[in-house]
Amino acid sequence: MLRVLNLGAGVQSTTVYLMYLAGEIQPGIDCAVFADTGEEPAAVYSHLHWLQSLAGPPIIVRSAGRLGDDLMQGRNSTGGRFASIPAYTAASEGAKAGIIRRQCTKEYKVEVIERYIRREILGLRPGQRIPKDVTITQAYGISLDEAGRSVRIRERLEGRRWITPEFPLIVRGMTRGDCLNWLRAFGVPHEVQKSACVFCPFKSNAEWRRLRDTDRDGWARACQVDNALRVDGTVANRKLDQKLYVHRSCVPLERADLGDPDPRQYHLGLNWTAECAGMCGV
Ligand code: SF4
Repeated sequence: MLRVLNLGAGVQSTTVYLMYLAGEIQPGIDCAVFADTGEEPAAVYSHLHWLQSLAGPPIIVRSAGRLGDDLMQGRNSTGGRFASIPAYTAASEGAKAGIIRRQCTKEYKVEVIERYIRREILGLRPGQRIPKDVTITQAYGISLDEAGRSVRIRERLEGRRWITPEFPLIVRGMTRGDCLNWLRAFGVPHEVQKSACVFCPFKSNAEWRRLRDTDRDGWARACQVDNALRVDGTVANRKLDQKLYVHRSCVPLERADLGDPDPRQYHLGLNWTAECAGMCGV
């Protein structure tokens, strides 16, 4: 019986990790796993290092590769066809947006954590069955205001009798706001930011502005990947008669209007506030 936390190092999963560390959630975890896409903002990596410095439950970092590099080179983490990010599509710049299928979460988050559990914790070979006496509890930092995601996680895990999802924040009735208060009271010495790839298209304008204004390298990387999506003939856009963009206005990120209001965000139901903590695909 093992208990593992999916750690995204954003607000909610940080709260859960620190609650385990403080002994507020019992029983404790054996470890927390951070699936690293190699593309988080600098603030998330420095926060992760701060968490590791607390010498609480072990924080394991595993990666399937650098998502943006794989995307630009048209390959996925295993050398196959690239895993798409949820980019917006338009026939021409600024036109009405569609969105392409998201495969990145599964390959670069969900499977990375599952592989760590299967291969490194349980010592299984690829394809080997889970022994009957093994039970893993996977804890998720999902707050009450995004409870729908917990339903989708339960659905995804149905039929896998060896794994049990757990949602400590929902059980305690905690919202994201409650988490922020809890982190303040705990005494985290810096602001905990949302974790997500710097070029993740699921960003509000306020989040894009923050990246641009506070993380020069992260912003440059986001623009680099965005521009690469539209180089004619690359694998990322092959067979697509539309252009790909990371900003929902379907204008290149470096020229996109990042001012509010941003009504389409709400119309499309894309007011993304959740973390991509090994579950943004569910
Ligand atoms: S943060 Fe966005 S781009 Fe990165 S893995 Fe999650 S959905 Fe994909």
